[in-house]
Amino acid sequence: MEVYIKGSIELKKWDTYVKNEQDEIIKDTQQFLQIESVLDETTAKGLAPFGDGIREAYDWLLHKARTDGFQVKEYDGYAAHIEWGSGEEVVGILCHIDVVPGGDDWTSPAFSAQIRDEKIYARGAIDDKGPTMACYYAMKILKDSGVSLGKRIRLIVGTDEESQWRCVDHYFKHETMPTFGFAPDADFPIIYAEKGICDFHYTKKLSNKNGFIQSFQSGQRLNMVPDRANAFLHNIEAHEEELKKSFEQFLLKKDCKGSAETLNGLLKLTVHGVSAHGMEPNDGVNAGLLLATFLLDLSLNEDELAFFQPLVNFFLGDSRGEKLGFSYSNEELGNVTVNLGKMNYELGSHATIGLNVRYPKDAAFEEIKVNLDTGMGQYGFTGEIGSHGEPHMVDKKHPLVRTLSNVYKESTGEEAKLLAIGGGTYARSLDAGVAFGPLFPGQKDLAHQADEHIAIDHLLMITTIYTKAIYELAK
Ligand SMILES: [Zn+2]
Repeated sequence: MEVYIKGSIELKKWDTYVKNEQDEIIKDTQQFLQIESVLDETTAKGLAPFGDGIREAYDWLLHKARTDGFQVKEYDGYAAHIEWGSGEEVVGILCHIDVVPGGDDWTSPAFSAQIRDEKIYARGAIDDKGPTMACYYAMKILKDSGVSLGKRIRLIVGTDEESQWRCVDHYFKHETMPTFGFAPDADFPIIYAEKGICDFHYTKKLSNKNGFIQSFQSGQRLNMVPDRANAFLHNIEAHEEELKKSFEQFLLKKDCKGSAETLNGLLKLTVHGVSAHGMEPNDGVNAGLLLATFLLDLSLNEDELAFFQPLVNFFLGDSRGEKLGFSYSNEELGNVTVNLGKMNYELGSHATIGLNVRYPKDAAFEEIKVNLDTGMGQYGFTGEIGSHGEPHMVDKKHPLVRTLSNVYKESTGEEAKLLAIGGGTYARSLDAGVAFGPLFPGQKDLAHQADEHIAIDHLLMITTIYTKAIYELAK
């Protein structure tokens, strides 16, 4: 897309301020990105609860804020806020300075923040240290411009967004909620509604009773559709060739890839599916469910049946909770989705089944839980809830949404289409919070990927948009 500011004289004024600061913005963003702020439990201690790297980025930013004349308040190294202005009400800007590890396949080292073709390449460039710098400079520009505002502006510095959100948990235990605000950690125009997201873990103990299945494994993460499943079969000597043949036919019939090979007297069956994000399981093909349908045709024993039957009976061809009687939907957020992300069976040990369930506002969560527990209970499984975030929604007519819509439209010349999503963004940590940028519609999302980068004109444009947005929200 074209990356330049359209719009009014006032917007152009803020854009001029940003242009005047651009060398500083670029230099500081590079420096900030060069700090390897990755969660490191080995150096975690006291006031560095997530390790030295994150603490270093935290100190760097807070030192800068104090030098620039902001009020800074720290919350034990878990979080902090940078504040300016006066007034009862508070506009919150929720950012995070932790990043996922660099990983492999980078053209230049992940924490070098090298500039090539007018782009800064670094882990965190887009998620979320680049946008954090943009919001920081937006605040600084407003402060230095001498405007007077009616509300306080508070940039909240999170440090554990990429793992467990212990930062915001700690922060909001000790600090009040902003009146309203945004998180620059997802997409433009505005994400105003997010589904509830809950992980369920079901387990049952297995006996030593010999059948066909020695082990079965599919999936690594609950929020992904597994693209691979393996089963190791034993006691198959008499049927080996027959089994291989029928497996081949099965793969042909289902039009999927896979293999059958003999390894140390075991028959290893592998099926390949198609990976997809768990928020829309229908975009993928669940390899575990596929392999389960094949195995159910063997003459399985009681334990084995009680593992594969619920998979197929409840979840095959049904990612909406219909068979279990909780297929809620609402107009804005759509259907309940159920992703079967992890399936494990280990003879003589345990069977485990992990689900990621997403549900719209107004769905009865208790009923989802009870129906799942009852269904799985019929097969001897007991359940436990893992992480759970409730649905999050800000009214479309809320002044926050209206103001940000106007700012977006004025800055880009495009309508601000309001987004409701199945995913979860950092904005759900705020009572009245929406996600607002930094990615524009159609821009490739390189967060967590090799060669993550932010174009300099993109960085400067969002700085202008955030300046205008904060001004409009706080004036
Ligand atoms: Zn993020």
